[in-house]
Amino acid sequence: MARVMNFNPGPAALPLAALQRAQADLLDYEGSGMSIIEHSHRGKVYAAVHNEAIELIRELLRVSDDYHVMFLQGGASQQFAMVPMNLLGDGQSADYVITGSWSKKALSEGKAVGTVRVAASSEKDGKFPRIVADSELDLDPKAAYVHITTNNTIAGTQWHRIPDTKGVPLIADMSSDIMSRPLDVSRFGLIYAGAQKNLGPSGVTVVIARKDLVEAGRKDIPKIFQYRTQAGDNSLYNTPPTFGICLLRNVLSVLKDRGGLEKVEVENKKKAEMIYGAIDARPDTYRCPVDKASRSLMNVVFNLTTPELEAEFIAEAQKKGMYGLKGHRSVGGIRASIYNAAERSWIEQLVDFMNQFKKGA
Ligand code: PMP
Repeated sequence: MARVMNFNPGPAALPLAALQRAQADLLDYEGSGMSIIEHSHRGKVYAAVHNEAIELIRELLRVSDDYHVMFLQGGASQQFAMVPMNLLGDGQSADYVITGSWSKKALSEGKAVGTVRVAASSEKDGKFPRIVADSELDLDPKAAYVHITTNNTIAGTQWHRIPDTKGVPLIADMSSDIMSRPLDVSRFGLIYAGAQKNLGPSGVTVVIARKDLVEAGRKDIPKIFQYRTQAGDNSLYNTPPTFGICLLRNVLSVLKDRGGLEKVEVENKKKAEMIYGAIDARPDTYRCPVDKASRSLMNVVFNLTTPELEAEFIAEAQKKGMYGLKGHRSVGGIRASIYNAAERSWIEQLVDFMNQFKKGA
C-alpha cells in the first residue's frame, strides 16, 4: 500500500488506524453478519456506535451536561443558516467578527435571516492577514450572539484566545481546528464543525449547543432546522449518516489513545513551528502573508516570489509524494494543511524539501 503524504485542506488525511478499523467495520461489523452501514439506525448495534461517538466528544472536550452534542448534515454551510434561523429573534441583531471568507459567508446567511452587524473585520485589500485585537471589537451588548471563525482555513489564521463577549453568547465555526487543542467549551453558546478535517469524513456536522439556547430557539421555522428537534431525539430524528459517524467514532478513539487533546496540541504546535521555521529561515525564498501572532497551527500558508516558482514547488513536492499543497484557488500560493492526522514524518520531509528547493539558485 502506497499512501502519500496528504496535506489536503478538507476532506483531509485521517489516521490510518481509524481507516483500517472502518475497513473491518464495513463488511461484518463485530461479528453481526452485516456491515455497520446495513444496520438500522434504530438498532442496538448502531446505537452503541452513535452513543460512543457522542461520549468521546464529551470526554475529549470535557463538555458539561449543560450542552447538547448533535450530529447534523449540510456541512458548516448549513450552520451558517441554522444559527441565525434558531437564535436571531425578531427585533434582535447579531454580531459577526470577520476574519476570512468563511466568516463572510456566515454573515451573508445571517443577513438573509435578520439584522446583522460587523463587530470587527481584519479584511485589508481583499485579504485577511490577521485576527482582530480585543480593542477592535465593537460589540453590541444587546446582540443575540457574536459569531467568530476560530481557524480561517483559507487565510491561514487562527484565534489563539477566546474573546470576552461580556455575557453575549459566543458562536464559533470550528470546522478546521476542533479537537486540535483543549477547549473551554463553557465559554461558548454554540460550536459547530464540518467533520472533514479533524473529525472524520464529510457528511457529518458536529454541533455542541448550550441547552438553554436550544430551548429558547425559534419555533416558527421548519422542524428539521430547529436544534431542539435533533437535540430532543439524540440526533435520530431522521436517518443520520451512520458510516460517517462510525468513522468519526474511530478517529476520536485514536485521539483518546494518543492521550487526549493536551498531547495532541503539543504535537500540533511542534509540527507548525517546524514549517514556520523553514519559511522564516529563507526570507528571500518564502514569505508568510500572515501576522506572526495570528498564524494558524492547522493551515500554514506561504508564498514564493512568483506564481511560476509556486507551481514548480507544488509539482516537485508531488514527485516526492507530498500532495494537496496548492493554496485555495481564491488566494493562490502554498498551503500545508496539517491537521491532527498529518504525521510528524511528513512535516520533516516537507521541511527537508523546503530547505533544499532552489538552494543556491
Ligand atoms: N467554515 C470553515 C472554517 C471551513 O474551512 C469550511 C470548509 N472548508 C466551511 C466553513 C464550509 O464547510 P462545509 O463545506 O462543510 O459546508
